[in-house]
Amino acid sequence: MHSTILIAEDDPVSRLVLSRRLEGCGYYVSTVADGAAAWEILESADAPPIAILDWMMPGLDGLEVCRRLRINQRDRYTYVILLSGREDKADVVAALHAGVDDYLVKPCDWTQLEARLVVAMRILALQGQLIAAREKLRQEASHDHLTGLWNRGAAIANLRRDLSRALRAGEPLSLAFVDLDHFKSINDTWGHHAGDAVLMQTAARLQRCVRGTDTVARWGGEELLLVLPDTDPSRAAEVAERVRAAIADEPFEADGVALPVTASLGVAFADGERADDWEHVVKRADAALYRAKASGRNRVDIAGAAGPVLLLPAAARIVPSPMTLASVA
Ligand code: GH3
Ligand code: MG
Ligand code: MG
Ligand code: MG
Repeated sequence: MHSTILIAEDDPVSRLVLSRRLEGCGYYVSTVADGAAAWEILESADAPPIAILDWMMPGLDGLEVCRRLRINQRDRYTYVILLSGREDKADVVAALHAGVDDYLVKPCDWTQLEARLVVAMRILALQGQLIAAREKLRQEASHDHLTGLWNRGAAIANLRRDLSRALRAGEPLSLAFVDLDHFKSINDTWGHHAGDAVLMQTAARLQRCVRGTDTVARWGGEELLLVLPDTDPSRAAEVAERVRAAIADEPFEADGVALPVTASLGVAFADGERADDWEHVVKRADAALYRAKASGRNRVDIAGAAGPVLLLPAAARIVPSPMTLASVA
């Protein structure tokens, strides 16, 4: 589990000897001859996790490179070993204050350097574990355990963010509630496990219907929320109908049993709401969902500016002249 090490050393012979030595120990090595070049690499996205910096170099010296690194502290940590001809305690202290992790006096004692690199690897592994643990917590705090979708708290945060952006950019934003029809009877007939399977498959189907920038969230129970930024009413109606069809057209599967499922959807649009007014849009979408349920389920109701518009599946069309998708634009 050897890692890449950046060596910044202006003396060509020392640079060559050091890099050969470390390559011989199994490390991947990249070398530069001055501090500016070192900084450029350490700042880049694929910077090596360990840097061995000479103190005295033309341009930026090793200490300055290290100071910049610590100011620009990002998620990943660069472990810095400083090489110096200076042995004074005051120099060591200054280097530690500049943010180096370790200090070695030249000429380098190889066994010491190798041992210190083992320490570096240990610290970096620990840091990697901490970052992974934090990411896991972040994921768990913002996502629903069963479906892997955003949870309600994260959905509200995303909606607030997207409302602000929409207002700033003068772009439309749409919301859609998706609620599975008679879901309780799936649980009652086939068991909670089958209900869970349907929820997971619903999440997957919904995700296939939307863009990467859209939010698909589990609002609660079997009610899901779609936040669709940069989506005008006519496109939102298309997306909602696609979601409805994606659920109704293909039975779900649990323990080898095919389960026909339908869903009702309520769509609403932002009407100049600011982030703090997110509940207004949610309420309109919720009211539209309620109407879709009340008027027979397996359908989309759109909280249009000119009154509600019902989009019905072909089989359920009961309105003599249903309004077309274009009419809600
Ligand atoms: P409607 O068409 O009016 O929406 O009827 P419904 O049966 O879908 O709605 P209702 O609100 O009466 O029931 C929702 C059910 O969803 C009840 C609840 O037990 C179930 N449910 C909520 N969360 C979960 C879950 O995580 N797993 C399973 N299996 N069921 C859940
Ligand atoms: Mg030098
Ligand atoms: Mg339901
Ligand atoms: Mg419900």
